[in-house]
Amino acid sequence: MNMPRLTRSIFADLLIYMLCFGLLMGLVFPLVMPILGVASDSVQNLTFFFASIVAGMMMGLINFFWVNVTVRPHLRLLADRMQGIESVLKHTIKQESWSTACSNRTCFIEESSEDEIGASAQSFNALLRALVKSHDMEVTLKALSNTLSSSLELSEMGEAALRMMVARTNSSAGCLFIEDKGGLALVANLGIKDAHLLAKDPFVLYSVDIGRKDTVSLPEDVEVNALLTSFRPKEMLVIPILYKEQLQGVLVLASADGYSEDDHVLLNLFGQGLGLAMSNAQTHDRLQDLASMDPLTEIYNRRFGLNRLREEFQRAQRGQLPLAVAMIDLDHFKTINDKFGHLMGDRVLIEVSKLVRNALRDEDILVRYGGEELLMVLPGADLKMGVSIADRIRHLIAALELKDDNGNPLPITASIGVSAIPRAFTENELQLIKAADDALYQAKAAGRNRVLSTR
Ligand code: GH3
Ligand code: MG
Ligand code: MG
Repeated sequence: MNMPRLTRSIFADLLIYMLCFGLLMGLVFPLVMPILGVASDSVQNLTFFFASIVAGMMMGLINFFWVNVTVRPHLRLLADRMQGIESVLKHTIKQESWSTACSNRTCFIEESSEDEIGASAQSFNALLRALVKSHDMEVTLKALSNTLSSSLELSEMGEAALRMMVARTNSSAGCLFIEDKGGLALVANLGIKDAHLLAKDPFVLYSVDIGRKDTVSLPEDVEVNALLTSFRPKEMLVIPILYKEQLQGVLVLASADGYSEDDHVLLNLFGQGLGLAMSNAQTHDRLQDLASMDPLTEIYNRRFGLNRLREEFQRAQRGQLPLAVAMIDLDHFKTINDKFGHLMGDRVLIEVSKLVRNALRDEDILVRYGGEELLMVLPGADLKMGVSIADRIRHLIAALELKDDNGNPLPITASIGVSAIPRAFTENELQLIKAADDALYQAKAAGRNRVLSTR
């Protein structure tokens, strides 16, 4: 490491001062001696003058060497370290924490004595520690804000944020909930068994009620539901996540040996960012729903449903897997509207959609294809299985006990047409729908309330 080139040294000045001081002492000493009672003849002669000048200069030199040995290395070390720090920081300014780049040996000074030199080393180290800490905090906050803005998908963002919080604080496990229709739904979990049970834990609910961070110290006389971590937590933090004073979710963190003041500072800052990110993610989810859902029946709309069908069709073709589609059309629906009014017609559509959605598997897709036509997309189902599913649905619709405003039963039936791949000459999903539509037409012609399929 190169020292900056010194054009002037305080130690060169010191040497001159010390020699002048010795010279002065040597000159004054023989003149003062007679005042102290020494015979002036014996001290005021050339030899004595010369000897006392030499002695004075020797004293000056000794003082100079002493200062040179004690103070100079310390000042050099300080300058060295500052230079070292500068070069370390220059190379790591955009990187991770300074605390890893700036080890004890490269940046800090040994606090070996309890005098002023030791005190100056202590002050230097304290200053450096504060600098490193503030930079590390800045790096952490930057990383957190990157994580929070990395994705608008709630579960993806929540998982990344939780992973980061557990890593950057003294946490060993944690989970994140989102506020959902007055309750809490688990978004991400890291190391807590049965974390979903915490959504009903009295400590979590209390913290949500008061709307501020609550610390539960363990072991205590408390039962923390579900906190069956693989370690015995000493401290657990329940942090309600707010945005504009509205509850967005709750972050629960557990530590094996407690949290420091720095952790709390970081968590407070992080909580604010997470509130905004969760609010954005929820708005994004809502917009996605609005774009993909039919507002009346809350099942997929035609545009989104057809896109999903195209994806499933291509996946089935790639994997040479079966895929069935079934078109449902309610029988004589016009009559329902005419007899009982449009509002009752709407209610029937809502009830039938709910019934069919609940009767299907999660991976099946239900689409409002037209007015009172619903399309079922059944990945993995061949024609036989598609017909059997369609018939089950047909029975459920026929058994639906709806009543009009006067309490009279409202008979609802549906006709269903089914088609499936593999099927000759069916090259795309629209041809598959056309085949199901043809079968539906035949079912209507054959008397309604039945399932037919096209081979
Ligand atoms: P079919 O057995 O031959 O299917 O007879 P249908 O009366 O059901 O005939 P069709 O399928 O052609 O009629 C569909 C009717 O569904 C026409 C329209 O009034 C009604 N409809 C479409 N969309 C809605 C809606 O959103 N709400 C209500 N209440 N009715 C709707
Ligand atoms: Mg119709
Ligand atoms: Mg109809």
